[in-house]
Amino acid sequence: MTAHIIDGKTIAANLRKEIRSRVEGMKSPPGLAVILVGDDPASHVYVGNKVKACAEAGIKSFESRLPAKAAQAEIAAEIKAFNDNPDVHGILMQLPVPDHLDSDALVQMISPAKDVDGLTFINIGKLVAGDETGMVPCTPQGSMLLIKSVEKNLAGKHAVVIGRSLLFGKPMAQLLLAENCTVTTAHSKTKNLDEICRSADILVAAVGRPKMVRGDWIKPGAIVIDVGINRMDNGKLCGDVDYDEAAKVAAAITPVPGGVGPMTIACLLQNTLKAAQQ
Ligand code: NAP
Repeated sequence: MTAHIIDGKTIAANLRKEIRSRVEGMKSPPGLAVILVGDDPASHVYVGNKVKACAEAGIKSFESRLPAKAAQAEIAAEIKAFNDNPDVHGILMQLPVPDHLDSDALVQMISPAKDVDGLTFINIGKLVAGDETGMVPCTPQGSMLLIKSVEKNLAGKHAVVIGRSLLFGKPMAQLLLAENCTVTTAHSKTKNLDEICRSADILVAAVGRPKMVRGDWIKPGAIVIDVGINRMDNGKLCGDVDYDEAAKVAAAITPVPGGVGPMTIACLLQNTLKAAQQ
């Protein structure tokens, strides 16, 4: 079997196009504010990409760039200003922030209605409760769209999510549960991980370990979503799944790069539009 390659780049581009046409029909554009603290080069690249994607979708961006030594109170004041600004519908704090800051406390200061990353306790609670007015974190939301691009009805399928972070693994498991999957969440203390993976109709890997999931961990015909982004010694990116091995067994698989990655920004735009409409 050679797996169908789930083309996240094209699916994300189509979603961005759809968002743009919905934004064009609005009286005033949605606004997204990004708070960036410090000089982390990767974070600067991510924020640059987000600002560019906003411009292409007709979404207005607001940026607050603060020095690495910025105090908690200074950042809190920026969050408050964006919370109070009616032209700003979405706020995101680029993570990680420098060590002297309490990032959890800062994230919880974001108004839940503007929390486009879906990390405030209100939005986490809404996701668990199945309240669709909440904001769903972007990467799990994008991963679900990729799964749905292959298979519409997920009821009764066994989904295994490797990873239990608040940013990805936990919300992903909730989304799969809401689709009536039987969900197993695996993590670093899980025993017999390979065996558990072999029983998965849908396997989602979000670990941060290059090519950890081998071809013989995969059930023939499974849908494999690789969330991991790892840089190899040769400078190239790879996922948490050994793509070449897995593609021989799975029915469908996301590549890295070009799979889940592009969906994250598209879903950020989607959440900003939703916040503006609500
Ligand atoms: P994280 O917070 O570091 O969580 C990693 C998870 O993997 C933890 O739950 C950990 O278990 C589990 N784990 C670690 N080693 C394991 C092992 N040997 N066996 C089984 N589970 C193991 O990472 P994250 O933020 O969820 O991100 C995971 C990966 O996804 C990273 O590569 C990240 O770069 C990527 N990512 C990509 C996007 C995107 O846009 N494509 C977005 C977000 C993240 P414990 O809880 O027991 O420690």
